[in-house]
Amino acid sequence: MPLLELTMFNDEQAAATSHQPPARSRKLEAGSWEPEAGLSHVWLPYTQMQTAPTPLPVVSAEGVRLRLADGRELIDGTASWWCACHGYQHPHLIRAMTEQLQKLTHVMFAGLANEPAYTLAARLAAIAPAGLSRVFFSDSGSVAVEIAMKMAVQFWLNVGKPEKRKFISFENGYHGDTMGCMSLSHREFSMHAAYRHYLPAQHVLPLPRDAAGLEALDRAASQLKPKTAGLIIEPLVQCAGGMKFHTPDILSAIWHICKRHDLLFIADEIATGFGRTGTVFACAQAGITPDIMCLGKALTGGTIGLAATLTTEAVFDRFLSSRSEQALMHGPTFMGNALACAAANASLDLFEREPRLLQVRHIEARLQNALAACRKRKRVVDVRVKGAIGVVQLRQADPTYIQTLRQKLVEAGVWLRPFGDVIYIIPAFTIGDEDLTTLARAVYDALGA
Ligand SMILES: *Cc1c(COP(=O)(O)O)cnc(C)c1O
Repeated sequence: MPLLELTMFNDEQAAATSHQPPARSRKLEAGSWEPEAGLSHVWLPYTQMQTAPTPLPVVSAEGVRLRLADGRELIDGTASWWCACHGYQHPHLIRAMTEQLQKLTHVMFAGLANEPAYTLAARLAAIAPAGLSRVFFSDSGSVAVEIAMKMAVQFWLNVGKPEKRKFISFENGYHGDTMGCMSLSHREFSMHAAYRHYLPAQHVLPLPRDAAGLEALDRAASQLKPKTAGLIIEPLVQCAGGMKFHTPDILSAIWHICKRHDLLFIADEIATGFGRTGTVFACAQAGITPDIMCLGKALTGGTIGLAATLTTEAVFDRFLSSRSEQALMHGPTFMGNALACAAANASLDLFEREPRLLQVRHIEARLQNALAACRKRKRVVDVRVKGAIGVVQLRQADPTYIQTLRQKLVEAGVWLRPFGDVIYIIPAFTIGDEDLTTLARAVYDALGA
């Protein structure tokens, strides 16, 4: 189509050439924007579009506050899915990104180096569990996990054990939405069950809770090891799969099982990383160094997509060879994006300059207190808190009830997004006491009546 026609292609023409009803698009003044205008063109995440309520229009955000088009403000208890750990629009992040934007936004990572990415790699290696010294950048958590899986499979291929190519993972785990990642979740009882016939088969086992569970895992690992490349776990907290916790002792024991049976230990710290569980990385509480570790989400302080897969030198060394086919064949187009890496460096500055881990400890104590009352609610079977993660577990909840809850929470002036049978609070670490209390109170109230 000639350029002129393209630029003239408007809604009337769209209506004439498409069997879809025309979009209700109209020019909107700043502040008066309504998402209905574009809703006929977007496809929302994890959403049955036929029954989906219209998402709330956010026009700006600051700290823990989301400002809506109609002027309402919501206190955010989600950090936009674990990401915005310093609150929204932190001036230091915005300044660093603005400065980077004016110098260099992106150059390819093959053959060209950019300062923010190289600096970030060194800084991540310095704060990661000792020994994780190599950083492979990508642009989303799912891709970081895919890369971890490819690294593990090819590690054994390069060692001369190509038959070691399956993975052990855990029920209620979640590692992302792409094919390899989905294969790590339970085939029947996960949100990805619809794709089960398309996925490679893995060994999805119960996560050990006690000595007997650990023995069972040890037996399974011993049996499966000839054909298994590694084990992957969300350390301390299984997040999107149900917000389930396990102890550092269990985590450490699982790591020892991997060592005993020659399995690479892969820590998916995409959600738990950067302070969420009370230490910079959850693995630190078990005193272990994974062979491979995946990072994402809060890596850029919630500003822009970036992920990383870290490995030890021992893993990396297995890819060094005079044979080109022993190299890792992966390279996201936007790998090492300078703007995203500048944001991540600025986020790390904030972890150095501001007392984030103390804040997490404080949030933990506050949430313990503030959520305790929810135990009295009829539908609640458990309330648990770890670091800056507060979870209220319901007896059972159908999607309609969850939808009602979501609505009540918004009416109470808070942004929380219960799913499955849990309500969870994962706020920015900078949240104040009063706002945290308001979040917990809103949950308690919404569970009434
Ligand atoms: C969110 C998440 C992912 C996937 O990250 P995306 O950036 O959404 O692809 C993987 N693993 C864990 C533990 C996560 O929480």
